[in-house]
Order: sequence, then structure tokens, then C-alpha cells
Amino acid sequence: MMNTTIAYLLGLATLPAGAAAVWLLYRLFRREAWLCPYCLAWTAHTKGKPDTALYLPAILTWASVLVHGRTARHRAWRRAHEEYGIGRVDPTWNLWPNHLTRAVPTDELDDEGQTYLLEWGFGSERDSRKEPVGMSYIECLFDGKPMEGYVVRHEDGSMELLVVRHSKEDPRRIPLFDGNAEPNPHIRPIGKE
Ligand SMILES: [Zn+2]
Repeated sequence: MMNTTIAYLLGLATLPAGAAAVWLLYRLFRREAWLCPYCLAWTAHTKGKPDTALYLPAILTWASVLVHGRTARHRAWRRAHEEYGIGRVDPTWNLWPNHLTRAVPTDELDDEGQTYLLEWGFGSERDSRKEPVGMSYIECLFDGKPMEGYVVRHEDGSMELLVVRHSKEDPRRIPLFDGNAEPNPHIRPIGKE
């Protein structure tokens, strides 16, 4: 009698452990892709198409995220975001589970959002939709003069400032960074004249 009770209790105790193991295996080997919210680069991309994601078992995707985080290009973009107070952007957040193949910023802008073209699937299962993503509002100095506005991203990774409250002689758009995170020589972060 005692043995049966113990066996029963032990059996109950292993159930959550079994469920956790199944969940862990699922998490480790589910195929997914990861878009860097700073560089807008896929950590694993299809050969010859740097803007197209490759789905890998999650464990490999996570490893490639770690490798990506140490690349000079990523660190340069990260620094650019921090210096100018630019927020990370994640057009994939609404689409579960990251089954996108492409995420392309377009030139369609509304009040505070930039539209991204999202594509997912391969072959006949290919589909797409447009998704507005909030733009960062930043302040910076342009030739020593304070400027503020929204950060617009481009497909090649470059960024522009869509100047808000500009006077007639001010430019409407100012290039912030080129596709390699090189800042425009005219701009400075606020407080770093
Ligand atoms: Zn990155």
C-alpha cells in the first residue's frame, strides 16, 4: 500500500518535469529567425540574399544572435543608437513566431510611424503585409544648431532625421547615418558639442 502511494506521488512529481522537458525541446529546436532591432539585419540569412531570413533550430539562432552581438557592425549601430537616444525597432514583434523572411522599411510615413513591408513563407506559402512601426523622436545638433524630429530608416540600413518644427531655411530631411553606421559629419549628439 505504502509503495503504491509513493509510486503514485513520484509519478505525479515527474509530470511537470516531463512537460518542462517537452517545452524545452520545443523551444530549442523550433525553427525561427531573428531580426536585429539595431542593424535590421537577419542573424542568419539566405546565401546571397542578406535581407532574407533563414529559419534555423532556435538553438542555432540563439548562437548566431550571440555571434552577431559581437560583430563590429552591430556594435557600431548599437553605439549610434545609444549616443543619439534612438530606440530599437522591431517590426517582427506582432508576427508570431518570427516567421518572417523579409522586413523592409518603406518610404510610407504617417504621423509617428513608418510602414514596413513584411514578407514570410517560401514558395507557394509566400505572403506579405504592411505594418506601421513607431519612429524614434530624437534631438541632435546639426552644424551646432539644435534639431529634432523622427528617425526614418532605409533598406540599406541608413537613417535620416525627418525634421519637425523646422524654419524655412532649414532642411526638411537630414542624413544621420549611412548604411555602415558612419554618422553625417554635420551632426552631434546633444550635450557633446
Ligand atoms: Zn545588430
